[in-house]
Amino acid sequence: MAEAFNRSAHSAAFEVAADLLASSTHTVVLAGAGMSKESGIPTFRGEGGLWTINGEPPLNQYDTFSQDPGLWWQRRLEQGRSDAFAQALEQSEPNDGHRALAELEDIGIVSHLITQNIDDLHRRAGQTSIIEIHGNRYWLRCISCERRWPCQEYIIDETALPPTCDHCSGVIKSDTVMFGEPIPSTALRRSGDETAQADLFMTIGTSALVYPAAQYPIEALQRGLPLIEINPEPTPLTELATVAIPGPSGQVLPALVELVRKRLANTVARKNYQED
Ligand code: NAD
Ligand code: ZN
Repeated sequence: MAEAFNRSAHSAAFEVAADLLASSTHTVVLAGAGMSKESGIPTFRGEGGLWTINGEPPLNQYDTFSQDPGLWWQRRLEQGRSDAFAQALEQSEPNDGHRALAELEDIGIVSHLITQNIDDLHRRAGQTSIIEIHGNRYWLRCISCERRWPCQEYIIDETALPPTCDHCSGVIKSDTVMFGEPIPSTALRRSGDETAQADLFMTIGTSALVYPAAQYPIEALQRGLPLIEINPEPTPLTELATVAIPGPSGQVLPALVELVRKRLANTVARKNYQED
């Protein structure tokens, strides 16, 4: 159940954010784990986050994988992924925030989404222009050529682990970026290109502490772009943002879409009146 958020206490911020969105044609969004909290997936940082409660996990996962990818795969196939976090991911459905963000793409405002989430919920809500900068847990990736496949399209031969790529013979791993693993260069390039073309930047549900993802809003600010932040808790970006709305994305984004749609309808009505 989402916490109560008093929208009317922030009506001025909503109006500023809606004005910025309605006049943008190339908004780039950086989304983080907070976006999926209302889908029942815990965040890592922030109030109630898994790391806030349990502390940080070992940061050498990619070293372990690289030392013996075959053994990593053997364990993965034997043990599966059955911890509480994996179960929350399996049971999750897109929430109103995911759907509202997809609507902003549909009406030509959001051009591109850089998501740190691995849960596939943006795609399931209808977002099409996405870079999953930390990967997608339902996909596999070749660590050499960076080709990606949905898991169900790739048959793993359990007698020949680790699986290797048909195109370049590189080792295949889960697409999710492990601690210590470099972010795939194609994802970084596309995120940088999109940010360079943006006329507005928006961050949603991210603590803005994880680099390189956190560098994109900074780059946008350095280019003089306006920044909208949606996050119930303050982050290092809050003070720098043009407008910060301190509410849950599942409530803030649908309300923003409503305000943006009204502005767009008024613009069309005004244009029709002028042409009559
Ligand atoms: P984070 O866990 O570091 O921070 C989450 C942020 O979300 C916090 O700042 C918190 O205040 C905010 N938040 C909490 N509830 C919110 C809500 N209802 N609406 C909007 N914001 C809310 O997340 P991060 O910055 O994305 O970085 C952690 C890394 O962990 C990411 O790289 C991601 O790959 C991974 N992760 C992914 C998932 C997922 O796929 N759903 C979940 C947890 C962690
Ligand atoms: Zn390959």
